[in-house]
Amino acid sequence: MHYELVIVGGGAGGLELASMMGRKLGRRLGHEKVLLIDGSPMHIWKPTLHEVAAGTLDINQEGLSYPILARRNHFSFLLGRMVGLDTAQRQIMLAEMHDEHGTVIIPARTVSYTRCVLALGSGSNFFGTPGAEQHAAVLERAEDAERFRLHLGAAFARAAYSSRKVLRVAIVGAGATGVELSAELLEAHAEALQIMADSQRFRLDITLVEAGPRVLAALPDRISAQARLALEQRGVNVKTSTPVAEVRADALVTASGEVPADLIVWAAGIKAAAGNAGLGLAVNRLNQFEVNDRLQTSDPHIWALGDCAACPWVKPDGSTGTVPARAQAAHQQATYLQRMLAAWQAQRPHAAPPFVYRDHGSLVSLGDNRGVGNLMGSLSGRNFFVEGLIAKWMYMSLHLMHHRAILGVGGTIVLALARLLQQRVSGRLKLH
Ligand SMILES: Cc1cc2nc3c(=O)[nH]c(=O)nc-3n(C[C@H](O)[C@H](O)[C@H](O)COP(=O)(O)OP(=O)(O)OC[C@H]3O[C@@H](n4cnc5c(N)ncnc54)[C@H](O)[C@@H]3O)c2cc1C
Repeated sequence: MHYELVIVGGGAGGLELASMMGRKLGRRLGHEKVLLIDGSPMHIWKPTLHEVAAGTLDINQEGLSYPILARRNHFSFLLGRMVGLDTAQRQIMLAEMHDEHGTVIIPARTVSYTRCVLALGSGSNFFGTPGAEQHAAVLERAEDAERFRLHLGAAFARAAYSSRKVLRVAIVGAGATGVELSAELLEAHAEALQIMADSQRFRLDITLVEAGPRVLAALPDRISAQARLALEQRGVNVKTSTPVAEVRADALVTASGEVPADLIVWAAGIKAAAGNAGLGLAVNRLNQFEVNDRLQTSDPHIWALGDCAACPWVKPDGSTGTVPARAQAAHQQATYLQRMLAAWQAQRPHAAPPFVYRDHGSLVSLGDNRGVGNLMGSLSGRNFFVEGLIAKWMYMSLHLMHHRAILGVGGTIVLALARLLQQRVSGRLKLH
């Protein structure tokens, strides 16, 4: 199988790129021009995984089928997990796929490409903490969030029928994922209490443990302070400057004592897949592909975007670093690559300007109708703080923008309305 453009990874960035390239090339020249490969048959926008984990977002409603998206957007889709790359032959190796009994359902395959974009995302960084990988849940993929949701459902039932009447959850890492998961779990608990008999009601104790001195360290002090206050007012025990030394099955071990827990979640940083280091491309210590300011890897026919790419960034204050692992960065890089690859395809001289990441600010959801965040005024250069319902609506609009990129305006409106109506009928919380 040979394709002009192969995109590996259909997440926040890869799927948007495949959709844009499909509409540009595939519609005119045929579906076989652009191929998207993903290890999962279903796309879910990763920033919603904490909602799936808390049972407040139904994965079967949220997940979009890649084959259907491919047909609509004029690209081809192949289900498969990339396990090797032959840069000399320009070939991608896909592992064989098994069912739950270990029987091979799809054999190993090889796909050749003219140009390739890697959009593989990232996983968790355990920083070598003993026990973290074994005992803590993570929110890396839809399957992780779904597994956690099932454990949460069982833990809710156990707490409701126990004599202790308490469920203890410890979350390691007070970045956006840890903060948003804490808020979403409080929502799920509040909804569960509304439908429970008095005798079943239980307390939810959430402890949010952070090694650094403040929550949401990547955001301005004011946002960090607001988010901490909002969580503490709702009963979350926030422990900053508390590095976790060990994770046990039923507790976190820290220098200031143990944090007992029935459920533990690790949300303390990202690291790309270890397998990236074996693909023959230059990677950094987080296994991210090193790319130049045109998102090109150490191989001239391969580009990388999103969380799996270490792209140079000159920050507004003049200091340098790499583009942060955020959905807005993956989105901007997909848009940039679409323009560059389309120009290349049209055999126009590709004197592409370098990719420049524009930080439009960050929004953090603190539950049903609350959010906090800052927006960067691109014209005035000033920083605007938003909070409450406005911040929450703006946060939700980011999700809609992603859907618009892959479904178009009409499809996005229909989907949003269908979800709203479904929630009205069957409720928001899905722990069964
Ligand atoms: C709970 C949570 C909340 C978040 N909230 C926000 C937020 O509010 N705002 C924000 O900007 N960012 C947020 N993020 C970060 C954001 O989700 C990521 O930065 C973004 O999804 C990165 O996009 P990507 O395209 O690089 O990778 P991903 O979206 O992770 O997609 C990677 C894709 O590659 C596929 N894949 C991986 N390996 C292989 C392989 N070997 N072969 C084939 N396919 C493969 C995966 O199946 C997946 O579909 C959040 C993340 C989490 C976990």
